[in-house]
Amino acid sequence: MRWGFDNMRLANQANISITTNRSCTLRCEHCYIEPHLFASKEQITVDNYKLSFDRVDNLYRLDQGLEEVEWEVIGGETTMMPFEFWQQMLPWTMDRIDRFNKEHNLWIDGNLNFLTNLIWSDKRYLGLIQEHAKHPLFTLYTSFEPDTNRFGKNNKLLNTWADRLSSIDANNKAVDLILTKGLIDFGAQRVVDLLLPLGVDDFSIKMLSPFGSGKVFFDNNMTPFKRMEDFVIEIATLLPSGITFTPGVEIEHAFINGKSVQCNGNFRYDLSIEPNGDTHFNANQTGDESVGLNLGININSANWATEVMFGNRAELRTKLTKQHSCCDDCKYLPRCNGGWHHYKSIDVSHLMQDGGCPGLKGVWDYLADKSNGKSNHSTFPEWRNPNGGVYE
Ligand code: SF4
Ligand code: SF4
Repeated sequence: MRWGFDNMRLANQANISITTNRSCTLRCEHCYIEPHLFASKEQITVDNYKLSFDRVDNLYRLDQGLEEVEWEVIGGETTMMPFEFWQQMLPWTMDRIDRFNKEHNLWIDGNLNFLTNLIWSDKRYLGLIQEHAKHPLFTLYTSFEPDTNRFGKNNKLLNTWADRLSSIDANNKAVDLILTKGLIDFGAQRVVDLLLPLGVDDFSIKMLSPFGSGKVFFDNNMTPFKRMEDFVIEIATLLPSGITFTPGVEIEHAFINGKSVQCNGNFRYDLSIEPNGDTHFNANQTGDESVGLNLGININSANWATEVMFGNRAELRTKLTKQHSCCDDCKYLPRCNGGWHHYKSIDVSHLMQDGGCPGLKGVWDYLADKSNGKSNHSTFPEWRNPNGGVYE
């Protein structure tokens, strides 16, 4: 691992993670949330929720390097909020994001990723989600892993999860697949066979976070990057046309439009807005592990955007400069940024055997080959910016 500075490296997107509550109906073993937070009864207020969008609007106007904004509402479990909260806030949110996209004339429209584990006790949520699921800016986002206790003892909740997922008719239905040992052992073909009939149209493949209650799980369930790579490529080959996968979509955007890949945590901002309005800089780190919580930035501050822009600098610098030694000569570095951001501060060298890396270089090679229609990696396209310029 070394530190360096490379002007060509890019991070231009914000992930705005609005945490409505930290309580959850499940106790997944890989969860990045610090366990004591599940006991918190705190819930975001309507005022703070709405204010979050206005503050991000200010940030977008202030930071000229910020080009895209993606919104997610997250818990804990979001449906542990009072039903009336989402009944009021879901339509409001769709209108607010639509207005945000139009006012800023975004190159790629921001979406609302509504995260839910689908294990709710208030049955009215099914109808409420369905009411909004056809909105073009709404993405239903849930998760699947076979080995994290997500579905309880003997996977007894799996059928409930699958039935609810299947019954929602959504424009965008994404499932997070965390690359645990168990998921890879489960097999790409079985994953595809399970999820496609449920109407899933985006396979969002990500890596384990070494934080919160997931730390122990991480130590025992990480798998070499080369194995992850092979799994992702197999998924890619199995998906029918029109069904997308992460990081595939972002890598293709990097090839075609010069966009940076963000799904590996290398967002310009990865902001977590807590239920009480406190704001910190890595949505995968909570409680005592939070980055920048000590700065005391709260959504109620009129200077929130300025405080966020300056407070985030150290985190952004890490994203744009830190890399693994295997990245030194990698042609994908300007847009990959050295792979999964959360592995830049821990030693993952033991997972890099056989040429694997935390940016899944083999997946980039696979898609570069595909986009060129050739098997020669040297034909990889030059980096181009959206205005037609060439980065290198
Ligand atoms: S991973 Fe999600 S569903 Fe599982 S315990 Fe954590 S917050 Fe709850
Ligand atoms: S693909 Fe791998 S080697 Fe290349 S920059 Fe990303 S992490 Fe580094």
